[in-house]
Amino acid sequence: MAELMTAYRLVEWGHSPELTYVPIPVPGEDEALVAVAGNGLCHSDLTMMSMPGEVGSALGWHMPFTLGHEIGGTIVSFGPLSATASAEQFTVGQAVVLVSANSCGQCADCNRGMETLCSSATTGRGYGRDGGLAEFVVAPVRDLVAIGHVDPGRAGPLTDAAATSHHAVARVAKYLQSADSSVAVLGAGGLGIFACQILAALTPARILVVDRDPVRRSLAQERGAHQVLDGIDRSTAKALREASDGGVDVVIDVIGTDDSIIAGMRSMRGGGSFALVGSEGGLLPKSWFSNFPQEAEIFTFQGSTRRDVAAVAALLGQGAVELDVEVAALSEVTAAYERLGAGSLTGRIVVQPGR
Ligand SMILES: [Zn+2]
Ligand SMILES: [Zn+2]
Repeated sequence: MAELMTAYRLVEWGHSPELTYVPIPVPGEDEALVAVAGNGLCHSDLTMMSMPGEVGSALGWHMPFTLGHEIGGTIVSFGPLSATASAEQFTVGQAVVLVSANSCGQCADCNRGMETLCSSATTGRGYGRDGGLAEFVVAPVRDLVAIGHVDPGRAGPLTDAAATSHHAVARVAKYLQSADSSVAVLGAGGLGIFACQILAALTPARILVVDRDPVRRSLAQERGAHQVLDGIDRSTAKALREASDGGVDVVIDVIGTDDSIIAGMRSMRGGGSFALVGSEGGLLPKSWFSNFPQEAEIFTFQGSTRRDVAAVAALLGQGAVELDVEVAALSEVTAAYERLGAGSLTGRIVVQPGR
């Protein structure tokens, strides 16, 4: 009989996940078995917990599956490896993170580095298939990213929260190449704090961060924000325009509500760029003709790619990015999600199954 491990699984649509026992998975061809050192909890996990069955089925997901898509761990073993696996750079015992965004590696979008658009992207580890809230997980070798001496028990959030922030920053960095350029980050939760650090590492721009929570604002200041503002509300756009000498060049909105989108659009100068990263589903019920800056561009929801994960892993290794995480045991996972849902966390929670 196969050996068993603990796993936190969604077993039925619309029901709370359960801490249960499942067989330790066996790596298939060109896959590795990874001992999970830490798995970051993400807001999208909460969405999955309450997702109607029709939505999950339309995504091609089948119950049950183990949650968790921000995974750091160590390589335990490999399945049979073909010549195309490029496994020679990895060894048993090595610390890695697993690319969170799923991709096929073969389609036209994958070939041009736009794995976010790959038709395989809707199902991955922790969203439709077994993820990292377990003692072990399997992953294709092509999803492994080496992290050197970084602690894999804390590095999981690199693969999603930090990578998503990096994707947005990399895309707007061309607007932020002079010291008198400015960028507003709306929201200083997990993603916003990463966005601050990556902006500070990759651009000379002045970084303005807006958040309601004073603890998050002070963390943003420690992590590269030049100025922090209380918000988001009706006065936010005016405050941002004043703080940026007439308007910011770039807005990175990691919230995505009606209020944040309107505040962001109204705080931009002409020719700027608005990156919508947050997935709160906000609307923009304003006339686009008279309310918004001229010549601005808008980036819709983006996600991240393998290149982003590698880039943030490198920034972490250089000390340009800090991981603001607190750790919890797998037995504490339900309470940890409750705290995430309450919305008052500073940084990310990483669940360490070995604790
Ligand atoms: Zn996520
Ligand atoms: Zn693809």
